[in-house]
Amino acid sequence: MLDGIPSAAQATYGSIPGPVLFSIIALVGLACFAYIVAKRLTPLLRAERDNRFDRPLLRLERLLKYWLGQWKHPRFRFAGTIHILIFAGFLILAFQAFSLLILGISGDVVLSRFSETVGRLYGPIKDYAATIVFLCMIIAATRRIVFKPARYEVPAKYGNGHKADAIFLLALIATLMASEGLIEASKAAMQAQLGQPGESLAVMSLPWMMKNALSAASSPTLWNIYRGAYLIDVLTFYFLLCYRPFGIQFHVETSLFNVYFAKLDKGTVKPVKWGLTQEQLDNVKSIGVKTFEDFTWKHMLDFYSCADCGRCSDQCPANAVRRPLSPRFLTTKARDYSFQHYPVVGSSGNGTPLIGSIYSEDEIWSCTTCGACEEECPLLIEYIDKIVDLRRGMVDDGNVPKSLQKPLKALESRGNPYGKMEKKRAEWTKAADFQKSCTVRVLDGSQSADTLYFVDSITSYDDRMQSIGRATARILDHVGTNFGILGAAEKDSGHEVRRFGEETLFMALRDENAEAIKASGVQRIVTSDPHAYNALKHDYQNVPPVEHISEVIAREVKTGKITFNRVEDADKVYAYHDPCYLGRHNQVYDDPRDVLDAIPGLKRVEMERSRDRALCCGGGGLMLFYEPKEEQRIGVLRAKMAAEAGANVIVTACPFCMVNMEDAIKVAGLEGQMTAIDLTELVDRQIVREIPHSVETIEPVREAKQEVAPV
Ligand code: SF4
Ligand code: SF4
Repeated sequence: MLDGIPSAAQATYGSIPGPVLFSIIALVGLACFAYIVAKRLTPLLRAERDNRFDRPLLRLERLLKYWLGQWKHPRFRFAGTIHILIFAGFLILAFQAFSLLILGISGDVVLSRFSETVGRLYGPIKDYAATIVFLCMIIAATRRIVFKPARYEVPAKYGNGHKADAIFLLALIATLMASEGLIEASKAAMQAQLGQPGESLAVMSLPWMMKNALSAASSPTLWNIYRGAYLIDVLTFYFLLCYRPFGIQFHVETSLFNVYFAKLDKGTVKPVKWGLTQEQLDNVKSIGVKTFEDFTWKHMLDFYSCADCGRCSDQCPANAVRRPLSPRFLTTKARDYSFQHYPVVGSSGNGTPLIGSIYSEDEIWSCTTCGACEEECPLLIEYIDKIVDLRRGMVDDGNVPKSLQKPLKALESRGNPYGKMEKKRAEWTKAADFQKSCTVRVLDGSQSADTLYFVDSITSYDDRMQSIGRATARILDHVGTNFGILGAAEKDSGHEVRRFGEETLFMALRDENAEAIKASGVQRIVTSDPHAYNALKHDYQNVPPVEHISEVIAREVKTGKITFNRVEDADKVYAYHDPCYLGRHNQVYDDPRDVLDAIPGLKRVEMERSRDRALCCGGGGLMLFYEPKEEQRIGVLRAKMAAEAGANVIVTACPFCMVNMEDAIKVAGLEGQMTAIDLTELVDRQIVREIPHSVETIEPVREAKQEVAPV
């Protein structure tokens, strides 16, 4: 008996007693669920290993923040709020669902075991939770059917849409909420008719409204409604449980594990294979991801965990300019592949090459490795490592785009992508005017210094970017840093090479640089190139600590070693463009802004997309040498964003960004209205010096971004 009325366990369905029927449903439901999940886990057991069991406390902290705290959801205000409400509702209702399932089998009410106070508190909370979840289902379905947000659409080239699946699932959850409401409402109405106190329902909640609607019904009708609602509730629950692993709702089960095992270190790239030494790696027959089974188990878990919300693609610069890449579909295509090749019924097949079947070459080369997709994903799904692994697979098969072959050969033979002579690496220091204002030591054994200025290839060899090198050197000199450069001993940092998938070449460049750095005896490294900064910080081991020049400047502004003259161009409005490898990958957002704000009279505006949502310039991942299919250049989009923000000067802190922004200003037809300047150049121009040097005239000298000197 349930508060004076029969419970579901006393009900019969035909001639089958409730406890028998509900025990059978529970056993069948749980067995089916276990079988389906076991099938879904099959490819994970065949996958490559992954190292995700370290730092459990940090993982737990992130689980609380990103999973339980739903940290990233408010980034999309409306959809995020709906999701948080549904998630919170599910957590609250989990106890009610469990209690109801037990009720039909044993007639016991789990809630009654708790104190009256807890029961009295939980009752209205669960009523409102069910009501909110029910309303959210209606809102979410209306949004998908009527308003059709663009980010949910699936272009035909990316396969079938999942709209019908999503709406069916919303309907199932709404059914669950409605049936639970009916159980509560019919029970309360029966108790009211018998004059028993019973559990009071929360005013204006779904069960409360249902109870009022049922108040005139006869007792046998209420009993039938109760029995029927209970059966529907139990059937819907187990059907939903078993249906979820067939589509996007699988993330309800997998998200907790996916967030716990998510990548902890930004800016890093996974090793070619976890757990192998460099020597063992030399004997590996195949490198990178070529077939589905080459993905790691965590990357497969990512595929299962995607909620298909489209947030990653919404922020992806490649997708914004219609390159053939949309990160969401990298995941959904792999999930569809997995479901098809590891079916719940039938045998599993594997080994199909992914490139040419579910992915195209252009799709994989189109990524700038900017990290916007990963920053946005509420479930911390990873893209860069997968893309790099797919590229490694293509490079291993000799499948390299033609335009990239020459720079790669040049990197191999000369240590820079331009094919220029090693001895010319320090030529930028020899400009006559510069030599009058600053002396740069070459740490070749004959001289020593505390600090190494790691210049990297683009700043060393590109005529326009050499100005960044000179400005950096003058700033370091101004603050009294005892610094030098490696000169001919410096090789390309290999940052882009690694992200391009050429691991062997990267390792050679890294080892040569690490050796030269060690020989120089320096205690710290400074660089003006965020790509070199990221490589030295995350890809190299056993090198001294590294700082980006913007961090050095910000600190020296605070100590008072750097002070600024008032800007003369009062009509200029500056916007800072966050380089991906300084901002998103290394969280250096404030230092460059603090420096700009310390310049008297400088007017600064923020672009609509800034900081961790900044739009990439389009230059990462060797993109300076690759011409993808696109409707417009990513940089052009960025230049237009700056113009929309009211800026006429774009300040960057990266030579790659500078190339792209200057190029984009020309292509966007904004020449004469907008300029780009590196933070170091601006600081060098504005710094207060006892003896002013003549400021370099900075003219964009490159005509086209794909220009590569013959090797
Ligand atoms: S890293 Fe950037 S370019 Fe690559 S898929 Fe993600 S958002 Fe797109
Ligand atoms: S990867 Fe993340 S952001 Fe992208 S669709 Fe899936 S859940 Fe949404």
